[in-house]
Order: sequence, then C-alpha cells, then structure tokens
Amino acid sequence: MEKIKMTTPLVEMDGDEMTRIIWQMIKDELLLPFVDLKTEYYDLGLPERERTKDKVTFDAAYANQKYGVSVKCATITPNKQRVEEYNLSEMWKSPNGTIRAILDGTVFRAPILIDSVKPAVRNWKKPITIARHAYGDVYKATEYRCEEKGKAYLSFVDENGEEKFREQIYDFECAGVLQGQYNKDSSIRSFAHSCFKYAINTKQDLWFSTKDTISKKYDQTFKLIFQEIYDECYKEEFEKLGITYFYTLIDDAVARVIRSEGGYIWACKNYDGDVMSDMVSTAFGSLAMMTSVLVSPDGKFEYEAAHGTVTRHYYRYLKGEDTSTNPMATIFAWSGALKKRGELDSLDSLVDFATKLEEACIETLNDGIMTKDLVGLVEAGTKAKAVNTITFIKEIRARLEKKLA
Ligand code: NAP
Ligand code: MG
Repeated sequence: MEKIKMTTPLVEMDGDEMTRIIWQMIKDELLLPFVDLKTEYYDLGLPERERTKDKVTFDAAYANQKYGVSVKCATITPNKQRVEEYNLSEMWKSPNGTIRAILDGTVFRAPILIDSVKPAVRNWKKPITIARHAYGDVYKATEYRCEEKGKAYLSFVDENGEEKFREQIYDFECAGVLQGQYNKDSSIRSFAHSCFKYAINTKQDLWFSTKDTISKKYDQTFKLIFQEIYDECYKEEFEKLGITYFYTLIDDAVARVIRSEGGYIWACKNYDGDVMSDMVSTAFGSLAMMTSVLVSPDGKFEYEAAHGTVTRHYYRYLKGEDTSTNPMATIFAWSGALKKRGELDSLDSLVDFATKLEEACIETLNDGIMTKDLVGLVEAGTKAKAVNTITFIKEIRARLEKKLA
C-alpha cells in the first residue's frame, strides 16, 4: 500500500514518562506504516527542556504559530520533587502555560464517547465541549484578611496619578476577608475569537454564560464583548452553517446543560470553566478519554490529551511490569491534528485516514477490548476484556488495516 502523503509539516511536541512511551507506540503501530509522516519534531521531554534552558518549548510554540497545527504529548510540570528527581537547574514553567501564553489561546476539552460507557447524566448523547477562559479573575486576585475593624475601598488611579474611582467596599465591624479581581478587554476578546472560531470549525452551537445580573460591570463586560464580536465578525458565518450563539445566565446554563443531550461548546469564565470541566469530564466517565485542543484567536491549533504523563504507570513500566494505560486521548490528539492539517492542505486522503483511525479505536472498544481503566466503567452486561497498552494498540491497528485495505 502506498503511504499517504503530507505537504505541510505537523509540529510534533514529544513529552514525558508513560505518555512518551505511548507516543512512540502510536507512531510505530498506527501512523508510520500508513502515513508518510512529515513532522517538525520538538522534544519537550524534561531532560531536553533542561538541556536547552527551556528554549525548546518556546521554539515549539513559535513553530505552532508558523505552521498552524501541532500535536503535543503530556509533559511534566516541574515541582520541587521533580527538580530533585531530574536534577534541574531551575523549576521550568509548565510547557502548556508557555505555549498558551505565546498563542494567546483558549483550551477546549471534549470527551470521547463510546456505547458501553454511559454518562452519569442519562440524556447526554453527544460530547459537551468546555472552553475555559484561562486568564485573570480569582486566579490573579489580590486578597487580604483583616483581623480588626476598618474600611476597605476599591480604587482606580490613572496613568497621571489622578484617582478616577473610589468606592467603599465594606465598613468592617469585625474581622473578615476581601479580594480584588481584574480582567482585560484584550484577553476577553481573544477568548471570544477562539470560541467563535472553534464553533465554526467543529460546526457546533456556542453557549456562553456569566453572572451578569449580579455583576453589572465585570461580567457584563464579558457578555457585551462576546455579543459585539459575534455581530461584527461571526454572525454571518454562523447563520450560513446553521449554528447558533446563545448567551444565558450561568444558573440557567447549568440547568439547561443537565437537561440537554450535548453536542455544543460551553464557554465559561475562568472559575466556572475550572469547576465545570471537572464536573463534565467526571460525568462523562474518564480523564483518560478526554481530549484537549488549544485554539488561538487567529486560528492556530494545538491538540493533546487532557491527562498528564501517568507517572504511577510509568514507574511500573520501568520495573518491567505490564501496564494498561489508556492511549485513546493521545491517539485522538494525533488524529485531530492530522485531520486539521489535511483540511488546511486540502488532503482528503489524510482527513480520511484520521477519520478511519478514530473509527478503528471506537470499534475496538465496542468489541469489548479495552484498557483496565475502562473495564471498571462499562455498563453491566457488556463484554469487556482488559488488555495491556500495546495489545490494545495492535487491536486498533488490525481494524485500521482492514478499513484502509
Ligand atoms: P495524570 O498523569 O493525568 O494521572 C493521574 C491518574 O489518572 C493516573 O495515576 C491514573 O490513575 C489516571 N490516568 C490518567 N490518564 C490515564 C490514562 N491515559 N490511562 C489510564 N489511567 C489514566 O495526572 P498526575 O498524576 O496528577 O500528573 C502526572 C504528571 O503529569 C505531573 O508531572 C504533571 O505535571 C503532568 N501533567 C501534565 C499535563 C499536560 O501536559 N497537559 C496535564 C496534567 C498533568 P491510576 O494510577 O489510578 O491508574
Ligand atoms: Mg479544576
């Protein structure tokens, strides 16, 4: 069989621990035999980040900007323990944080659904994609705990030192707490552009929710910016595709989400997105089945799995023990990236390959062949056999070969 050709390179970002092992298995078994894989390779594994003083992470992000599409393996975000373990000269920043800052992007998380794992919410039939505005608000807040009586103020001083605004927040008659939050129009705008672009890209409705009835300036700003950008830049395209932009109060959104059958993108402010993405992913089943895409406001894409490097499995693997780590989200990162690359380069055969790869994965699971984590989640009465990672990947390959023949 002739291998599928690529024209533009895909930016490949390798990573750490168990996911690095799986990365190679996926390439060897599911990609290289079928695709004339053209990638620009960046090793974001911790040893190489240390060797290059983290330059490799920045180079990878710039390559993502240049070529438009990348696929990333999970990477270690160093903490104190990792600094010792890897003998690091510095506690390098999270690669995901660095890449997100350079691309100014928003992360979209969506579950992979299979018949035998039913969501905890019975009426959910299609994935719910959560978009979290990962900037500002409570995550960058200034806080103070006062131990005595006193007054707290909110104040704004302009560049020339003139106080433009001052209002008493509270006259404390006892000890208490206070907090100052901010966000920026520029960041909200980028968030909005990423959301509208991704909705168009995946042809799904976009929901957005805040608490604007209570927060009449802060949350209201989010609502107004989204509406303005929608009307100016995306309304026409949405109508052409028959998809809708829908704004509602966060309380109402929560109620509607639970009653819905899924199949849309839910854009959330930073804190809402943090909490709701954990709730939605748990209700859908498993972190190992959660995909993640970073989308920049100018339409650049970075695909990855939502989970980490699965450290505990890696240490078992190093001891020579059999591991049954679920490669689904990492395979879907590859298929998502290849599909996008194919779409941008008008390579139907590449898009078709990526689609068949995903189908082969789902068929394998539907045939009851799965990794250990899923066996515990399937509906009672489903035939389910736990296999190790490489056997699972080989089963996918067998089905993929049939489809491509
Ligand atoms: P994790 O790697 O996601 O793993 C947490 C646990 O979830 C695992 O121990 C495993 O549970 C289960 N799990 C996750 N993915 C799985 C899979 N594909 N198949 C089967 N089980 C899976 O999170 P972590 O242990 O908190 O973090 C490990 C490292 O990953 C850290 O160094 C962290 O910095 C990094 N990390 C990177 C990213 C990223 O690059 N995007 C994201 C998160 C974390 P059992 O052990 O019970 O089987
Ligand atoms: Mg969270």
